[in-house]
Amino acid sequence: MSTKVRVRFAPSPTGPLHIGGVRTALYNYLFAKKNGGDFILRIEDTDQNRLVPGAEQYIIESLKWIGIDPNEGVGFGDGPHAPYRQSDRKDTYRQYAEQLLQAGFAYYAFDTEADLEQMKASNANFKYDANTRELGKNSLTLSKEEVEKRLSEKEHYVIRIKLPADEDVKFYDEIRGWVIVNTSQMDDKVLLKSDGMPTYHLANVCDDYVMQISHVIRGEEWLPSAPLHVMLYRYLGWEKSMPKFAHLPLLLKPDGNGKLSKRDGDRLGFPVFPLEWTDPKTNEVSSGYKQKGYLPEAVLNMLAFLGWNPGTEQEIFSKEELTEAFSLEHIHKAGAKFDFEKAKWFNAEYIKKLADEELADLVKDNVTAKFGNQDAGYLVRAVSLVKERLVFLNDIELFGYLFQATEKYGETPLSKIVNIKASSFNPGAFETFLKEYTSTDTAALETTLKDFANSNEIKAGDLMKFLRVSLVGELSGPAIPDLIVLLGVEETGRRVTNCFSQL
Ligand code: GLU
Repeated sequence: MSTKVRVRFAPSPTGPLHIGGVRTALYNYLFAKKNGGDFILRIEDTDQNRLVPGAEQYIIESLKWIGIDPNEGVGFGDGPHAPYRQSDRKDTYRQYAEQLLQAGFAYYAFDTEADLEQMKASNANFKYDANTRELGKNSLTLSKEEVEKRLSEKEHYVIRIKLPADEDVKFYDEIRGWVIVNTSQMDDKVLLKSDGMPTYHLANVCDDYVMQISHVIRGEEWLPSAPLHVMLYRYLGWEKSMPKFAHLPLLLKPDGNGKLSKRDGDRLGFPVFPLEWTDPKTNEVSSGYKQKGYLPEAVLNMLAFLGWNPGTEQEIFSKEELTEAFSLEHIHKAGAKFDFEKAKWFNAEYIKKLADEELADLVKDNVTAKFGNQDAGYLVRAVSLVKERLVFLNDIELFGYLFQATEKYGETPLSKIVNIKASSFNPGAFETFLKEYTSTDTAALETTLKDFANSNEIKAGDLMKFLRVSLVGELSGPAIPDLIVLLGVEETGRRVTNCFSQL
């Protein structure tokens, strides 16, 4: 094991990156940064049948969006161990398979699919292992000459690891402690196929070794593979440099009942992917956090807490604070339930923390598309009035009255909502009165409005209610003086006159 911390995120590009995968990448990133180490992106694409076009690019863009750029890796620049895509490293694996063959830790197997089916047919629990391999057509059962003949005739084969019948494989997991699995529970996994393509196991172990990976931090679903990997390190003579293992808890459905899946997101209305994804085969679109109006910083913070906590009450952490606080010791063993309400809470908190200018910048395109061009300064002032009410960036669409006058005042007749009578209220007089108000002092404006109400024998509350309906279109929204100062007296006057005419 190298003394420098070097970790990798090693996804297979078989579809869009699930947020569970993003969390794995994030924990690797935080661990690397915390320890002054390197974070590598390696694309594990040896199973060419399962490749999905666009998935690799999606992985790269997702990491970029959330702000956890690897130091080395596909899409992030070459480092000393390039290339970082396994299909581009194909020629490096065979030598290790041959090393295992020569040392007697692996063997050729020529069994066809039909042969394997037959072995399975006679034994429901069949697995290719120390007890059954004598039934197969492999270099342990066939003569040396026969094996050479088959190889020279280019017969299809695989190279399998040769595991002992009954031996405990023991390794320490940084999260789970000691793990012991007996080889009787394992099978002689395929390491390399005759086309030279390694399987996940061989490629993964060889690359971790060659790339001097110090810690393998990955999802719990890979825990069952770890004993095999330990055996590979041992058989390849690399046990002393074997990385430390840390298997992360599963990300569970909100009710804790099983692994969080794409279907849960569709069913419960939240994204399970960082970015929107269009399935290249079916054209089905799956929603993404980005397009739903989440801030990457909020998603990052939320994900960090799905399976880890700092041991304090603090919940809002910047990436730098997370890096500082992160440790493998504080990762939980139990699965982490996805909490959609919490995700929303994080997002709303991060929106509140934005400077008005930043928020305006983030919603500008959406506002322009929905409500037309806005003056830059106006947009900044407008968003400042509703910042506290946004859960998602896209919620700005709910505040159209900031950008255009409303013509609709809801289903209820206006006269039932507002108590303003033509005998006491003259919109022209109100407009003239407003125009004299040139200050932006909202507290003073409130007093002025009350004075207007008093001198016209209107209850201040009724006037405010009427103004609110005129300006917003309904009985909600920011404080009236704030709105008037934002919209300006001209626009306020126009809206008031218009609303009055519909009473
Ligand atoms: N290629 C595996 C995956 O798709 C990586 C497992 C590992 O990190 O070792 O998740």
